Amino acid sequence: MRAIRSLTTVAPGILFVEGPASNWTVFHGDGRVELVDCGYPADRLLVEESIRAAGLDLSALARIIVTHGHSDHLGAGRVWSERYGVEVLAAEDELPNVRREVTEQVTVGDLLPFALRPGTIPWAVAAIRAGGLGEVGVPAAQPITVDVLELSTGHRLELLPTPGHTTGHACFFEPDAEALITGDALVTGHALLADDGELQQLPSFFHHDADRAEASARRLSLCDARWVLPGHGPAVRL
Ligand SMILES: [Zn+2]
Repeated sequence: MRAIRSLTTVAPGILFVEGPASNWTVFHGDGRVELVDCGYPADRLLVEESIRAAGLDLSALARIIVTHGHSDHLGAGRVWSERYGVEVLAAEDELPNVRREVTEQVTVGDLLPFALRPGTIPWAVAAIRAGGLGEVGVPAAQPITVDVLELSTGHRLELLPTPGHTTGHACFFEPDAEALITGDALVTGHALLADDGELQQLPSFFHHDADRAEASARRLSLCDARWVLPGHGPAVRL
């Protein structure tokens, strides 16, 4: 059974959710909810559960902001966009991937050379069962056109372009909580990594452009951050 691994209250109105295989952050306030990322498609009910843990329900969901267009971050965004008109936003360079006009995502073929690596096949099977190969693209997704997003919950998010994992991958920094959402630019765990809780990069075959991903990870300044909220693995308090 899929279950939330952990919930961390980072600051008032900021709930970090460590999901079964990927993470999301619930921003809440003024009766509204905005999400950064939303797990796999199969995590739809867990996202709803995490919104209830914040004292609200799905009707409060105003917007989903995604770090990038991979299926373990876009989750059920397409369903909520089409069914309830929830807005989905991404960095402008990531929009083609979020809309699935292009697909920058590891394929079964990409994984074949690594199939003998311990954990690869179980991970791939779990990812497929979680909807990883489903139709997750959000045709109505819109670009982020500002450097600082003002959320309806009263929070602010600074956009930090971190290309490489995908062409338009972005991290987000919430300055009041000093919380850095790193998406897949830096993670603290993954089924295919030694699970030591350290900040690290995903295996290079996950990156669309591994050199750019490494340069982005190096450029990402942690010095202002009190919290790092990764796309995979637990939150880190610095
Ligand atoms: Zn990814």
